[in-house]
Amino acid sequence: MDTTFIVVKFWTGRISDEDVELYLQRYCTIIQTVKPLDKYGIWYGIRKYKVQLKKNSKGLLIQIPNSISLGPYNGRIIYPGQQATCFICQSGDHQLRQCPYIKCWKCGQFGHKAKDCTHDAQCNLCNKSGHTFFTCPSSYIVLQALFTKQVKKGNF
Ligand SMILES: [Zn+2]
Ligand SMILES: [Zn+2]
Ligand SMILES: [Zn+2]
Repeated sequence: MDTTFIVVKFWTGRISDEDVELYLQRYCTIIQTVKPLDKYGIWYGIRKYKVQLKKNSKGLLIQIPNSISLGPYNGRIIYPGQQATCFICQSGDHQLRQCPYIKCWKCGQFGHKAKDCTHDAQCNLCNKSGHTFFTCPSSYIVLQALFTKQVKKGNF
């Protein structure tokens, strides 16, 4: 079995576990999740996963990227044997801070920022177009809001 351990690190606490797991399931099957706590018992933004790598239609292992983007939030994915590539353009020559490109988080295209975006939104959680992460029907927050509304209406 092709299992490995990956570490996902976000600089924001605004991302739910469910969304991270949904995103990762494109590349691998999650076997186990660990959220380590510091010595004071506080979670510090690191998620560890034991995963089984998926294979593509040619039987080759799918490469897990070194970053994860959910809406405007970027996290790092760290795993053994990965190549250091730029988060934005995936080039191996430089890192994020030296990247000459601008990438829009709303539509995923290069050359402009989200505030200037005139394209259709491309959701980076479910990969569908027409909405962003914040309104994604697969997102945990949206599902949660829907559920709360139904409970209030007494439909549940
Ligand atoms: Zn770059
Ligand atoms: Zn755009
Ligand atoms: Zn979506």
